[in-house]
Amino acid sequence: MWMVDPRTLCRAHLLGEHVECHMFLATFRLGRSLAGYVRDGLVELSALKRRHDELAREMGRRGYRHRSPLAPGRRLPALGRVDPAANRRELARRCRECRRLQAPDSGGPPRKRQ
Ligand SMILES: [Zn+2]
Ligand SMILES: [Zn+2]
Repeated sequence: MWMVDPRTLCRAHLLGEHVECHMFLATFRLGRSLAGYVRDGLVELSALKRRHDELAREMGRRGYRHRSPLAPGRRLPALGRVDPAANRRELARRCRECRRLQAPDSGGPPRKRQ
């Protein structure tokens, strides 16, 4: 989970984080350990539903298909903590498109044509 402003994610990173949200919920439901992800600051379980829906909204805004509602069914435990500021820097470092979208004058991600 990057937890940065979804508008600043390139297509690959937006879709990637969305898939991860589903993966984290599945892992949690199977009773598998998320300890490694927690240790590495990759998951913030209590924010999972809100974050997924935020990403799904941004996908819709860009005209990507989203057919996978995330329904935890109950409140998820406060497990893990993500550092959005550090992730923002990391994305800018490793991804040219994310770096471009972070720039204040980028014009934002491509929008769905009306
Ligand atoms: Zn989904
Ligand atoms: Zn990217």
